[in-house]
Amino acid sequence: MVGRARIYVCGVTPYDVTHLGHAATFVWVDAAERVLRRLGVQTEVCRNVTDVDDVLFDAATRAGAHYDRFAAVQQFHFERDMDALGVRRPMHEPRAHTYVPQVVELASALLEAGAAYESGGGVYFSGAPALERSGIFRDEAVELLRQNGGRVDDPNKRDPLDQAVWQPSVEGEPAWPSPWGPGRPGWHAECTAMALSTYGPALDLHAGGADLRFPHHAYEAAQAEAATGVTPFARSWLHVGTVRLGGEKMAKSTGNLVFVSDLLGQVDGRVVRTLLLDRAWATPWDYAPQLLARAADRLAALHAAAGQPHSTGAGEAYVLDALVDDLDVPTAIDRAIDAGGSAARELVQVLAL
Ligand SMILES: [Zn+2]
Repeated sequence: MVGRARIYVCGVTPYDVTHLGHAATFVWVDAAERVLRRLGVQTEVCRNVTDVDDVLFDAATRAGAHYDRFAAVQQFHFERDMDALGVRRPMHEPRAHTYVPQVVELASALLEAGAAYESGGGVYFSGAPALERSGIFRDEAVELLRQNGGRVDDPNKRDPLDQAVWQPSVEGEPAWPSPWGPGRPGWHAECTAMALSTYGPALDLHAGGADLRFPHHAYEAAQAEAATGVTPFARSWLHVGTVRLGGEKMAKSTGNLVFVSDLLGQVDGRVVRTLLLDRAWATPWDYAPQLLARAADRLAALHAAAGQPHSTGAGEAYVLDALVDDLDVPTAIDRAIDAGGSAARELVQVLAL
């Protein structure tokens, strides 16, 4: 396989320590990139930092810190966790607050294309195309927007589905100049602007947690396509299955979180990496401590197999085939343990286990 793969993954909002749900997304993107590189593809990863965001402003205010400084400290912790998990640093790491002029340009382009309108000092993207591409019903879409800071009751909107590309800042929030008055970017528009600025109008693989499918990714892609006229914005999507605890999604709001740093205090980063990768990437799952012990056993078996001098059976190609077949890591690990020798060493190397 030859060619280039432009990968974009929605990064973190640096307002809290990294939990296992976040880590799952970035470890899977890292695995996908490593497999593509093994196949000879030139990969580029862009992982943004959403450092202009409501939840960040709120957390910084509570901590009594300037939001920018607060974000930088949280970002440091995040990168330390990612290093311990063997996640390669991305080639591009745009920070939202340095892409404000690009969001202003995006808003202008969307107004010009007739895909957005100006109202009350903001610019709103008409949500119909985002709803259409999502394939979900309107009521469900409104509810998901409500749960995801979509400000469905904003009186400046023509329709609750419309989302701010640009919005006036309220008291205490940072504000930047724009043709529509001082304000700040909307969440989806930030990613659209950073992705378009990094890669141009199209990219090859867009990744993120499954909960970003709607609204975030639907709006990000709909805005990009409306602004550039190039379809599709993303040639493929990797939506990583939600990590739950006690049957519920890990979320700051519910407090049911497993922090990566806590696990790294108990086991090697490669065990956590194995825990995240030794499963179907799209399937939601529940974390339990015994799964960590199981991952440690699997990794030990793989390393023991890699210590054998020779492979038996079909060897390296057989292991790689499983990875190429929709990133089937569990099968690849089974085959590597069976075959041993160079086949197992190959898998250890490709997946950085
Ligand atoms: Zn995003």
